[in-house]
Amino acid sequence: MRKIAVNEPDLSGNERDYLNECIDSRWISSEGQFVKQFEIGMAKLTQREYAIAVANGSVALDTAMLALEIGVNDEVIMPTFTIISCAAAIVRVGAKPILVDADPDTWNMDIEQIEKKITSKTKAIMVVHIYGLPVDMNPILALAKKYGLYVIEDAAEMHGQTCRGIPCGAFGDISTFSFYPNKHVTCGEGGMVLTNNAMLAERCKKIRNLFFDAERKYIHQEIGYNFRMTNLQAAVGVAQLERISQTIEKKRWIGRRYTEFLSDIREIQLPKEKTEYAQNIYWVYGIVISEEKDIYIDDLMKKLGEKGIGTRHFFWCMHEQPALKKRGLFLNERYPIAEKLARKGFYLPSGITLEEEDIRYVTDTLKKVIQEMY
Ligand SMILES: *Cc1c(COP(=O)(O)O)cnc(C)c1O
Repeated sequence: MRKIAVNEPDLSGNERDYLNECIDSRWISSEGQFVKQFEIGMAKLTQREYAIAVANGSVALDTAMLALEIGVNDEVIMPTFTIISCAAAIVRVGAKPILVDADPDTWNMDIEQIEKKITSKTKAIMVVHIYGLPVDMNPILALAKKYGLYVIEDAAEMHGQTCRGIPCGAFGDISTFSFYPNKHVTCGEGGMVLTNNAMLAERCKKIRNLFFDAERKYIHQEIGYNFRMTNLQAAVGVAQLERISQTIEKKRWIGRRYTEFLSDIREIQLPKEKTEYAQNIYWVYGIVISEEKDIYIDDLMKKLGEKGIGTRHFFWCMHEQPALKKRGLFLNERYPIAEKLARKGFYLPSGITLEEEDIRYVTDTLKKVIQEMY
């Protein structure tokens, strides 16, 4: 039987050579040259002044919250349809996540709902670009300016994407990336924090490194973390970054192919190929089963799994997370669009190594399974 994993990274470039360089030079800690090179590469990609490499995308968000000194009694507006890392970073510093629903077409946060949620306690808007299409940043930046709010931009799914021609990762007071193996640029585990503000960059570096003081080592003005990235990780990241344009091109090709092969099934909603401000880069290729059809996606995903096809659920909403509800958050709040996405959406194999016959097999099997089941 064919086996098509939900994701598989492509490590066929200079990854091996650069890793060998680390071994040969014996620079494997965070002090190595590849870390600096990777930071410079990401700063260039996103047209940023400062880039700070960290251990993963989740702690990149933690670093952003700590750097901006958001804390107790502060509120941060964010989408309910996202990964837990976003809400976790907010609650870890003692602040309160305030949610907005998703947009039914782009699956991004519904921008229309943000202004109503702004209070005297609001400190920031955490923007998360979801699955391949960015959030339209113009109205967000306008709101942030009008109310004096920070923008934290989670661009973990957006390497090489742009919004109205400006790179994703360029928009926030602080923007963050992840380099998990299913991202467009991977280094196994890794993250990046980007900003144009020199003082924020300095704070981020200290937060990453236990708040070591440059003046006198081993005297600490605040409590930081060890969020450092190793030279080994960065070596892979540098090699990956060299191929970012080909990666985007291939991912867009995969997306177009899926859309072409699936456009005749009426029971499912496909990802939008483009909006007026961006063209999808298909971090993952998600589908949403129509509510009219009484299809339970877990059954469908299980059937696809039996045919060797890996799939994953969409995110589960923040307002329905036991870990957050236990803290007394989001009592009786409802976000119907996001709830539907979480229950009816999942993604198909989306890795960079997919070829035409893989996509054919996935889409043919999906059609067959849906027909058999309903
Ligand atoms: C992957 C991802 C993260 C978390 O990154 P890790 O490196 O896995 O910690 C955060 N936010 C978004 C939107 C992501 O897709």
